[in-house]
Amino acid sequence: MQKIRRQIWITLLGGVVLLAGLGIRVAGTRAMDSFQDARQAMVARQLQRRDITDPRILVAMGKVPRHRFVPPDLAAYAYGDHPLPIGEGQTISQPYIVALMTQWAEVAPGNKVLEVGTGSGYQAAVLAELTDQVFSIELRPVLARQAAVRLKDLGYDRVQVKCGDGYQGWPAAAPFDAILVTAAAPRVPPALEAQLKEGGRLVIPLGTPYGVQTLVRWRKTQGKLVEEATLPVRFVTLVQPPVLKAAPEKKPPAPPPTSPLPGAPSR
Ligand code: SAH
Repeated sequence: MQKIRRQIWITLLGGVVLLAGLGIRVAGTRAMDSFQDARQAMVARQLQRRDITDPRILVAMGKVPRHRFVPPDLAAYAYGDHPLPIGEGQTISQPYIVALMTQWAEVAPGNKVLEVGTGSGYQAAVLAELTDQVFSIELRPVLARQAAVRLKDLGYDRVQVKCGDGYQGWPAAAPFDAILVTAAAPRVPPALEAQLKEGGRLVIPLGTPYGVQTLVRWRKTQGKLVEEATLPVRFVTLVQPPVLKAAPEKKPPAPPPTSPLPGAPSR
């Protein structure tokens, strides 16, 4: 009888220890992400109340820790209804624009998706919640390196990040079901059009750096891009890097010291 009583006590004690352990784990998870409430509020107020209706996108945006994709001193503002600086003069888009571009791209599980302009890696992480085939190109080496490390740290290790010129696309991984360009270009880069599958979606802001810009969703239909939706927007510029040319025969004369740098904005 005493033996049975002791066993009951041991079992009860075990249960208490187990529950306490689970409690610590749950509390630990919460402590690790104190932005959970802010993130859910963002989904409800900024996305659902507007026109983001795809439940997979709402779940993805409710899951990706956006505060980990902005500089630490801006983490408190990560879930606000606005873009934020991410260094190198670049910005992470407003949550609604990320969600809208993702919705327009109609990413189904298993789709192969290309993002041009990795930046912080946030848009790539949202895409990675929807498909396991995400390729992302970033022109600026510092941002490309930081984003690749961040995505790996957060468990998005299947996202492939490459440092290079997005105007060229990613020929070795093409064709793509969807291409998202997160910086404004004057027109659709021909390589991106070529690397889109039949029926594929291309979402790209078109326009000049300081002028009117329009986010456009195209679909490749019978080999041609057909425009399907537009929205006025403001993005950073998709920079056209200088094409590497063979060294000239003769050194060109040096420009006078007062002439502006090529490509410098005129003020
Ligand atoms: N999608 C990003 C934000 C992009 S900001 C995010 O979720 O954080 C636009 C990015 O495009 C910048 O990081 C900029 O460096 C990059 N970019 C500009 N020109 C580019 C080009 N030609 N090829 C690839 N990336 C480019």
